[in-house]
Amino acid sequence: MKILTDIYEVRDITKNIKAEKQRIALVPTMGYLHEGHLSLITEAKKKADKVFVSIYVNPIQFGPKEDFSKYPRDLDRDVNLAQSAGADFIFSPSNDVMYPSGYGSFIEMGGVADKFEGEKRPGHFKGVATVVAKLFNIIQPDIVIFGQKDYQQCLIIDKFIRDLNFNVEMHIAPIIRERNGLAKSSRNSYLTDKERAEASIIFESLKVTNQAINKGELNRAKINAILSESLRFLQGIKIDYAESAVAGTLEKPDNFLPGQEIVLLVAAYLGNTRLIDNMLIKIK
Ligand code: AMP
Repeated sequence: MKILTDIYEVRDITKNIKAEKQRIALVPTMGYLHEGHLSLITEAKKKADKVFVSIYVNPIQFGPKEDFSKYPRDLDRDVNLAQSAGADFIFSPSNDVMYPSGYGSFIEMGGVADKFEGEKRPGHFKGVATVVAKLFNIIQPDIVIFGQKDYQQCLIIDKFIRDLNFNVEMHIAPIIRERNGLAKSSRNSYLTDKERAEASIIFESLKVTNQAINKGELNRAKINAILSESLRFLQGIKIDYAESAVAGTLEKPDNFLPGQEIVLLVAAYLGNTRLIDNMLIKIK
């Protein structure tokens, strides 16, 4: 496996791969890899000949009060993990390579980008879309794999690929969880042991709400109340949002309809750590 930091080196390599009519998959990450990331790499390897994993903590997708500077980083560890999962190349550029002085081009996303994460983290999806466009242009992948863990991000990238005519096939991989149900995340490293155990409340609450929906609850306000009340069993949890919406569009009707696919979306703080999770539900 090769570690690349230079755009021109990447271009040389991808040119040769394409000349051999091989397919390239990209797995974009911010590093500090865990089994969630590794499942994306495994999936990428099944779908393409060569797998690039980008490891880049993208400064422009963090708000001024967010955790950019303390975000966990360990490239040596990531290199070993990515290699063991089947990655062929790691692209780990510096900020100077990605955003040289005088950098001034950004991609604004509308529609679903204004809700939930977009509302709570202004500028976040602009930063995500911009870095993903840059990675697409640098690596020229045929396939890109994202995780359902960041459900709204998947919707935005899917739309952005279509809106901007990127010639990339997108795949979404399922959420990988800890044994207690907590969705794996690099940010879980911020949690104390107690918080990590308590964080199982998020998946438990998603499951409880799913059960209520399966029993026939279709009223959105009631579904949201069940989700929030279940989360509040954990004293001290701070809910950023805990809501249901129509999958795909994130619309918020008064009542959902039989046959509709919906999504439960949660963002909550345990101590200072912000965790997100979601569950897709097909209404009977
Ligand atoms: P991140 O490094 O957090 O930006 O995540 C990089 C990619 O890994 C994104 O597509 C995430 O959705 C995906 N991902 C993160 N956590 C998980 C997880 N627990 N299961 C599956 N995919 C994940």
